[in-house]
Amino acid sequence: AGPDRLGRLGGMQSTLVLIKPDGVKRQLTGAILARIEAKGYVVADLKLVQPDRALLEEHYEEHQGKPFFEPLVEFMLSGPSVAIRLEGDRVIEGFRSLAGTTDPTTAAPGTIRGDLGRDWGLKVQQNLVHGSDSEESAARELALWFA
Ligand code: GDP
Ligand code: MG
Repeated sequence: AGPDRLGRLGGMQSTLVLIKPDGVKRQLTGAILARIEAKGYVVADLKLVQPDRALLEEHYEEHQGKPFFEPLVEFMLSGPSVAIRLEGDRVIEGFRSLAGTTDPTTAAPGTIRGDLGRDWGLKVQQNLVHGSDSEESAARELALWFA
């Protein structure tokens, strides 16, 4: 079987991408989606979501107890995010590479965080996007955001 109508072949992965509240507020949704689509990944599902605290505490459970946890949850509650089910071969590592490293001030130029983000002197790194970090995280997070 060849590619389907969206050009998708086998070995497909899915990942959860979030355009975080800073990206939505700064009206960067289109610019970020353009980079994702230009890379060749497929937007399989997309919605604007205002998550509640319970969803965020579960989403970020690995960070509970860290000093940035509460500011992170408050930031993520501050406005809607765009949730995307993104598909493609090796999309999990591919999207994280496209996103850049966590600190937007030092993320490499050419990446979403490196080109569009910086430190605004806040308690949490407002770094525009989230991407799942493994197949296990992707399955868990997609189930949470696209229940
Ligand atoms: P990611 O996978 O690159 O998004 O990074 P992590 O999973 O380590 O952290 C989740 C989110 O918490 C990051 O995207 C940042 O928004 C925030 N964050 C992570 N580490 C720090 C930190 O050391 N300080 C602050 N202020 N925020 C952080
Ligand atoms: Mg992470």
